Amino acid sequence: MKLIHIVNLTVAALIIFGCYMISVKKARQQTIQKSLGRVLLFSGFGVIAYTLAMIFSSRLLADIGYSAYHIILVAMVLALASFVSEYTGVRTLFSKELYVVGVLSLADVVILALNPFLHCVFRVAKTDDIIGHTYYYISRRETLYIYHFSLAYLIMALAVIMLIKKILRSPKIYKLKYAIILLIIIAVMAGHAFYVTMDSTFDYSIIFYAAVAAALFYFSIIYVPRGLMEKLMFFTVANMKDGIICVDIDGKVAHYNKTAKEYCCATDDGSDVSEYITEWFANNPEALTNDELTWKETRNINGEKCRFINDYKRICDSDGKYVGCFFIYHDRTKEYKRLAEEKYRSSHDSLTGLYNKEHFCKKASKLIKENPGTSYVIVCTDVKSFKIINEIFGVHRGDDLLLCMAGDVNSLAAEDEYVCGRLTGDRFAVCMNKDHYSEEALLGIASKFGNFFGEDVFKVQMHFGVYEVKDRELSVSVMCDRANFAIHTIKDSYQSVVAYYNEKLRDSFLSEQKMISEFEAALGSGQFIAYIQPQISAEGHIRGGEALVRWLHPSEGMVSPGKFIGTFETTGLISRLDSYMWELACIQLCKWRSKGLNDNYLSVNISKKDFFLMDVYGTLTSLIEKYSLDPKCLHLEITETAIMNIPEKQQHLISQLRDYGFIVEIDDFGSGYSSLNTLKDLYVDVLKIDMGFLEKTENTERSMKILRMIIELAKSLNMAVITEGVETDEQVRFLRECGCDVFQGYFFAKPMEIADFEEKYLSLYK
Ligand code: C2E
Ligand code: CA
Ligand code: CA
Repeated sequence: MKLIHIVNLTVAALIIFGCYMISVKKARQQTIQKSLGRVLLFSGFGVIAYTLAMIFSSRLLADIGYSAYHIILVAMVLALASFVSEYTGVRTLFSKELYVVGVLSLADVVILALNPFLHCVFRVAKTDDIIGHTYYYISRRETLYIYHFSLAYLIMALAVIMLIKKILRSPKIYKLKYAIILLIIIAVMAGHAFYVTMDSTFDYSIIFYAAVAAALFYFSIIYVPRGLMEKLMFFTVANMKDGIICVDIDGKVAHYNKTAKEYCCATDDGSDVSEYITEWFANNPEALTNDELTWKETRNINGEKCRFINDYKRICDSDGKYVGCFFIYHDRTKEYKRLAEEKYRSSHDSLTGLYNKEHFCKKASKLIKENPGTSYVIVCTDVKSFKIINEIFGVHRGDDLLLCMAGDVNSLAAEDEYVCGRLTGDRFAVCMNKDHYSEEALLGIASKFGNFFGEDVFKVQMHFGVYEVKDRELSVSVMCDRANFAIHTIKDSYQSVVAYYNEKLRDSFLSEQKMISEFEAALGSGQFIAYIQPQISAEGHIRGGEALVRWLHPSEGMVSPGKFIGTFETTGLISRLDSYMWELACIQLCKWRSKGLNDNYLSVNISKKDFFLMDVYGTLTSLIEKYSLDPKCLHLEITETAIMNIPEKQQHLISQLRDYGFIVEIDDFGSGYSSLNTLKDLYVDVLKIDMGFLEKTENTERSMKILRMIIELAKSLNMAVITEGVETDEQVRFLRECGCDVFQGYFFAKPMEIADFEEKYLSLYK
C-alpha cells in the first residue's frame, strides 16, 4: 500500500506541476495566473512534503515531513482564498479579515514548526502495510489540531462565501464556471473532513489536490462557457451605436440591431429591415459584384436629420466561399454637427452673429460676381473713439451698442440682395444693391445712436464711408479699405456723417503716402530749401523776411509747402522739417553776420504740432548757442490757433522764448475763432495779420474799419503789426495810414531764393 500511495502522490504532484507549467505558458499576461500559480505550487509542495513524510524511516524526519505538509496546507488555503478573491473580484470580504487571519495563521505555523519536538498538534506512529513496508502516519491528534483544522476551514469558508456572492451576482451565463470551482472546493473540504474523522493512516483527500489543481486551472484559464461567444457578439452588436445588419447567403436578414432598424424603418412607407434590404439590393445591383461599397446618406430619424456613412461588405469563409454580407450604418450626425458649428464659428462673429471679415469678403465677392447687371455699393461704418466708450461705460454697454448697431446696419438693405458683416471691433460693412442705398438711412442710424448713452452724457459719433463698386475685379477687402478710407477724410467729425470714396481722394492719399515714404531721403539729401519773402518796413527798409520751405523734388520740380505741410503735420514729421528749417535760417543769419550784416533777421514758422512733438525751447536756444547768434535775429511765427490749443504749461513757453530774446509773432491773426481772447491772454511782440481773411467779406468798408481797429488795438498793447498778403498799392496806402509797421506780400515781392534775396535787398550784395 505504501508504494501505491507514493506512486499516487507522485502522479498527483506531476499533474499539479504540469498544470502550473501550462498556466505560466498560457496565461502569463493575466494577473489571475500569479495567484493561481501560488495555489498550484503550494499544493504541489504539500503533496511532496506528504510523500517524503511517508518515505522517511526516521520518526523525527516523518514528524518534520508531516509538520511541513500542514504548514504548506495553511499557505495553500490562504493562496486559494486569495486566488478566489482575485478571480471573483470580491475583495472586500477577504481584505477585512486579512489581518486577523494572518495573525492566526502565523500562530498555527509556529505551533506546527514546534510539533516535531513538542507533539502539541499531532503525533506519528509506525505501521506496516500488508506487504510489510513500514511508514509513519499521523496516529494521534492533540487539542491544537482542532485549532489548525478550524483555521484551515475558516479560510476555506471565506473563499466559499466569496464564490457564493459572486455566483449570486453574476449573469446566468457565468454562474456555471464559479459554481464548478465552488463544488470542487467543497468536495476537497468534505474529503479532508472525512479522512480526519475516519482515522485512516493515509489522507486520500491529498490525491484530490491534483483534481482540484486541474479543475482550477481549466475553469479559470481555459474554459469559455458554451454560447458565450455568441451571446457576447449578440450584445456587442445590440449595444453598438452604429447600425448593423447581417444577411445570409440567400439575402435573408439574419441579424440586425436597434440602430439598423431605426435606420431602415425611417422612411414613411413603414418598410421593415428585410424589405429595406431587398429593395436596397434591387437598387444596387453592383453590390453582387463588388466586395465592398461605401456611401453617404441623410435620413430622418425620430424627427432629427441624421447623417450616415454606410458600409456594405461581402464575407467569405476560409475557403473563399461567399457566406453572406453585412451592412454597417455609421451615425456621423454628431461629427457633422460639430463640423457645422466649427464652420459657423469660423465664418461668423460671435457677438453679433454677422459674418466675420473673411466670410463677408467671400460672400460679397460672390454676390457681385453672380449679378453682373446689378450695381453695388460697399458701406463701412466706424464709431469715433469706440475705445473711450468701452472705457467710460464698460465693455458690456459697448457690446450692447455694437449689437444694436449690427441689427440696424444689417437691416439697411432688402433681403437676399445684400451681405452684411463685422470687419473688426466697431466696424461693420454692407455690400448692397446701389438702388436700395439711401444716405438718409445712414443719417437716420447715426442720429439714432447719437444719444445711445443719454442725451447729455456722451454723443456717439457714427461715420459711414461709401464705395461705389466700379471696378468689379477689385477684391472686396480693397473695396472696404476704400470705403474706410473715405471715413478717414471726414475731418469735421461732428457735422459730417457720410463720406464717398472717389479717385481724387485715392490719388491724394497715394501722393501723401509717397511723400511720407520719401521724406527721410529728401531731408538727408537737402531737397528741402528755404525761400525768403522780404518784409518791408513802413519807411521802406528791407532787413529780412519770412523763411518759407520749398521741396526741390527730383522728379516733380519745386513743390510748395501747401502740398506737404498738412501731411507732415498729421504724421508728426513736421517737427523734423521745422527744426531743419530753423537751422537753415540760423546758418543763413550766421553767414550774414560774418559779412557784417548784424541787423538782418529771418522769420521762421513753428507748427502747432511742434509743441507736442519736441522741445521747442531747447531746440531753438541750442541753435542760437550753436551759431552764436543774437536771438532777436530769429523771429518765431506761431499761429493763433496753435497758441490757443497748446496746454497752459506750454503757454508759459511763449514768455520763456521772449525772455530769452526771440521776437515772437502771432501768425495768421484773424483767421481763427478767438483772436481777441488770444490778445487778452498772451504777450507777444508782433501781430501778423493776413489780408486774406478780410478779402472774404463783401463789405470792404467794414473790413477796413475792423483792420484799423485791430492795428490800433495792437499798438495800444505795445505790439508791432505786420500785414501779409499785401497785393495792391491801395492796400499799402491804407495800411500805412493805419499805422502798420511792416508789410509782406506779392505787391513787394514773392518768396524767392536766398541768393536772389541777398542780391536784391542786402546792401553788401548790391
Ligand atoms: P504762411 O506762414 O502764412 O506764409 C505765407 C504764405 O503766403 C506763403 O505761402 C506766401 O508765399 C504766401 N503769400 C505771401 N504774400 C502773398 C500775397 O500777396 N498773396 C498771396 N495770395 N499769398 C501770399 P507758402 O510759401 O506757399 O506757404 C504756405 C504756408 O506753408 C505758410 O503760410 C506756412 O503756414 C506754411 N509753411 C511754409 N514754410 C513752412 C515751414 O518751414 N514750417 C512750417 N511749419 N510751415 C511752413
Ligand atoms: Ca508764417
Ligand atoms: Ca501767415
